[in-house]
Amino acid sequence: MIAPTFAYARPTSLAEALDALGRAGADGRALAGGQSLLPLLKMRLAAPALVVDLSRVPDLHGITETADAVRIGALETHAAIARSEVVRREVPLMVQTASRIADPQVRNRGTLGGSLAHADPAADWPAAVLALDAVVEIAGPGGTREVVAADFFRGPFATALEPGEILVAVRVPKTAGRRQAYAKFPHPASGFAVVGVATTFALEGDRARAVRIAVTGASTRPFRARETESLLEGQALSEAAVREAAQHAATGMEMVGDVYASAEWRRHLVAVMTARAVLAARG
Ligand SMILES: Cc1cc2nc3c(=O)[nH]c(=O)nc-3n(C[C@H](O)[C@H](O)[C@H](O)COP(=O)(O)OP(=O)(O)OC[C@H]3O[C@@H](n4cnc5c(N)ncnc54)[C@H](O)[C@@H]3O)c2cc1C
Repeated sequence: MIAPTFAYARPTSLAEALDALGRAGADGRALAGGQSLLPLLKMRLAAPALVVDLSRVPDLHGITETADAVRIGALETHAAIARSEVVRREVPLMVQTASRIADPQVRNRGTLGGSLAHADPAADWPAAVLALDAVVEIAGPGGTREVVAADFFRGPFATALEPGEILVAVRVPKTAGRRQAYAKFPHPASGFAVVGVATTFALEGDRARAVRIAVTGASTRPFRARETESLLEGQALSEAAVREAAQHAATGMEMVGDVYASAEWRRHLVAVMTARAVLAARG
């Protein structure tokens, strides 16, 4: 499979990258790790006139911390996030999630920003960023803006990013004191999530507070399991209570049915993986 012909630019600053993408309009495409874009090009599902390689843009790299957040540059790879000491200490859910993506080859090339911008409904990161109340930093021709994770995902392969915009970084609130876990039922060949569930919550005694449960893989876009969250809020997390509340995790959501898993099976898996994630986080 051979990609169609395209012009290639490798800017060395964010301004240059925005300028190149802005001039190309709908015919331009950013390139990060290439783990999703290159297959799309080779299968001729995308045919941009210009590919803008972001790898030399310094603003998109780096993992830094402030008093209350960890900021991860869009071009940080899944592998770099998995081995980051700061991320391990402050948001261990991100280490768990990164470690469950695909295989070492994909983890060494694929990036956090690329995965979020691509918004594959079966990708792992969307569950984590939703459960962590992360904020996505975006740069565009008109300046910079921020979008909370809950407003970022719009549908399958559709996000709040406008044409010509670049996802610059993801800011994740520090959550070291909170319980957190990611439970995933992976597709056996690709590793993508048939269903993945990320959770974070605080434990006061045995009572759960500020419960967040986010699901990927099951529907056309990632979603928060709001009913289960409210059922568990303020409750003691006995195994029976968690399993009962988890039955409601997909309430109100349409499940995807495909050759990997029927909609009915995915609905069942959402309940099973939700209970697993919450019980694992509880310890
Ligand atoms: C065999 C295989 C198995 C995989 N298994 C999994 C898995 O188990 N779980 C999982 O979550 N993912 C999986 N993936 C996907 C992988 O995580 C990709 O890395 C990810 O989806 C895309 O990231 P990327 O950096 O490679 O982006 P690219 O492929 O370079 O880009 C993807 C899209 O995002 C856009 N884009 C990239 N960066 C930016 C940016 N900073 N701003 C704006 N737009 C941008 C591009 O224009 C393109 O449209 C798998 C991929 C492969 C090939």
